[in-house]
Amino acid sequence: MAKIKVTNPIVEMDGDEMTRIIWAMIKEKLVTPYLDIDLKYYDLGVKHRDDTDDKVTTDAANAIKEYSVGVKCATITPDEDRVKEYSLKQAWKSPNGTIRSILDGTVFRKPITVKNIKPAVRSWKKPIIVGRHAYGDIYKSAEIVVTEPGKAEMIFTPASGKPETKVLVHEFKGPGVLMGIHNTEKSITSFARACINYALSEKCDLWFGAKDTISKKYDARFKAIFADEIAKHKAEFEAAGISYRYLLIDDAVAQIMKHEGGVLWAMKNYDGDVFSDMVAAGFGSLGMMTSVLVSPDGKFEFEAAHGTVKRHYYRHIKGEETSTNSVASIFAWTGAIAKRGELDKTPEVVEFAHMLEASVLECIENGIVTKDLVPLMDPQPKAYKNTADFIDSVAEKLAKKLQTALKK
Ligand code: NAP
Ligand code: MG
Repeated sequence: MAKIKVTNPIVEMDGDEMTRIIWAMIKEKLVTPYLDIDLKYYDLGVKHRDDTDDKVTTDAANAIKEYSVGVKCATITPDEDRVKEYSLKQAWKSPNGTIRSILDGTVFRKPITVKNIKPAVRSWKKPIIVGRHAYGDIYKSAEIVVTEPGKAEMIFTPASGKPETKVLVHEFKGPGVLMGIHNTEKSITSFARACINYALSEKCDLWFGAKDTISKKYDARFKAIFADEIAKHKAEFEAAGISYRYLLIDDAVAQIMKHEGGVLWAMKNYDGDVFSDMVAAGFGSLGMMTSVLVSPDGKFEFEAAHGTVKRHYYRHIKGEETSTNSVASIFAWTGAIAKRGELDKTPEVVEFAHMLEASVLECIENGIVTKDLVPLMDPQPKAYKNTADFIDSVAEKLAKKLQTALKK
């Protein structure tokens, strides 16, 4: 069978532990046999990050800027234990954090849904995608524990030398707590643009929820910036047949529990932190959650939302059998391949990505799954596949699909 030509490169970022093992299998069995593709390879495995003083992470992020599409394996964010375990020079920063700040991107998490795994919420029929603003608010706050009566004020001193602005926060009669938070016009605008790009790219409705009735300046500013950015894309939204809706955050929470899904739910930092975990748990397994980083200027980085599955890896290196779910990692690859094809205007590449996704879904819907999915399924299969056998089953289905497509 002739390989499908992919016009432009994809930036490939390798990673750590169990996901690194899975990564190699996916590439060898599901991707390179079928695609003639130039993969710009960066090894973000923790040892190589250490050897390069983490330069490889910056290089990879810059490569995504250059080529627009990347696919990343899960990586270790080192803590003190990892520094000892891998004899690292230091506890390097989170690679995802580094890449996110270079691309100025927003992370969208999307569950992969199948017929025989029912979400915990009965009305949910389609994926709910969560877009979390990842800058500021309580995550970059200044805090004071107040121990005695006194006056708390907020002062802004313009760099231009104009008069300062001062507001009273509270007259403390006794002990209490105090917090100052901020956000920037630039970051909120980037967030709004990334959400709009994602909604247009996936053709799904966009919701944004905040609390502007209470926070008449802070949250109201978020609402206004979203409205301004949406206004610039009105025609594109209409052409894509999608809509934008602003809701109060509590209303959004109530509405989502009655909704069928298929929406992008954009949230402020804290709301996104909390409700992304609720949505993920509601849809089932971490092994079925994908994630994509979208920059305001349309660069895309795809990955699985889970980590390196350390516990399974330790079993694997002891020679024990593992049953690790590779679905989210496979969908990271298909997301990147489909996006590449879309940007290059090569429908046969997009078609290949869809065939690979369909092969995975067919396996699961026929009861061919890894161990983590068994308790979530209805009906429950009697057996499960090990890590490698699941990928082989997908490869078999894919080969058949490609053969059939070729005959047509
Ligand atoms: P994890 O990799 O998310 O796994 C936690 C547990 O969730 C696993 O032990 C397993 O449960 C289950 N699980 C997650 N993914 C699974 C899959 N694909 N198939 C089957 N079960 C799955 O978190 P961790 O093991 O606590 O973290 C390991 C490393 O990942 C850390 O060093 C952390 O820094 C890194 N991390 C990286 C990223 C990223 O690169 N995006 C994200 C998060 C964490 P059972 O053991 O019960 O089967
Ligand atoms: Mg959270």
